[in-house]
Amino acid sequence: MPETLNISDAEWEVMRVVWASGESTSQEITRVLNGKRGWSQSTVKTLIGRLTSKNYLHARKESRHFIYTTHLDEPESLKLELEGLLGRICSRKIPNLLAYLVEKTPMIAQDRAMLEEVLQNKQVVAEVPCDCYPGQCTCHLHASGTILSDQSHEEITHEN
Ligand SMILES: [Zn+2]
Repeated sequence: MPETLNISDAEWEVMRVVWASGESTSQEITRVLNGKRGWSQSTVKTLIGRLTSKNYLHARKESRHFIYTTHLDEPESLKLELEGLLGRICSRKIPNLLAYLVEKTPMIAQDRAMLEEVLQNKQVVAEVPCDCYPGQCTCHLHASGTILSDQSHEEITHEN
């Protein structure tokens, strides 16, 4: 598995067909995505071409058709996408996001029991460090460096 993925929403639709089937021809992928999204064979072939050039899909020729497969694992790929998404917000805000996900996710009793066990065993830390770049997160408003620059800003204001 690569460390990061670069798969668009449209390309993800193609990947899902290949993941579900194990291997597909462009005709089989088009049949599914024409039904779901109304996409033509040429649209699907463009997406397949992008995924092949990114090395996410591999083509092999069998009689008159290309068969497409992938070495990417679906759950692992989804985790990479999720980590990319979580990298967009401060680590300190992720627990609230998880609570939101838990609230809105339909689940059966076993699912809830699994999550309860995860929470029971979860190691906690005294404080979650803010890993954001200064200026992209409100945590840094309270960081010592920013307070100093706020003071120097005040001094300049007083001088004026
Ligand atoms: Zn932060």
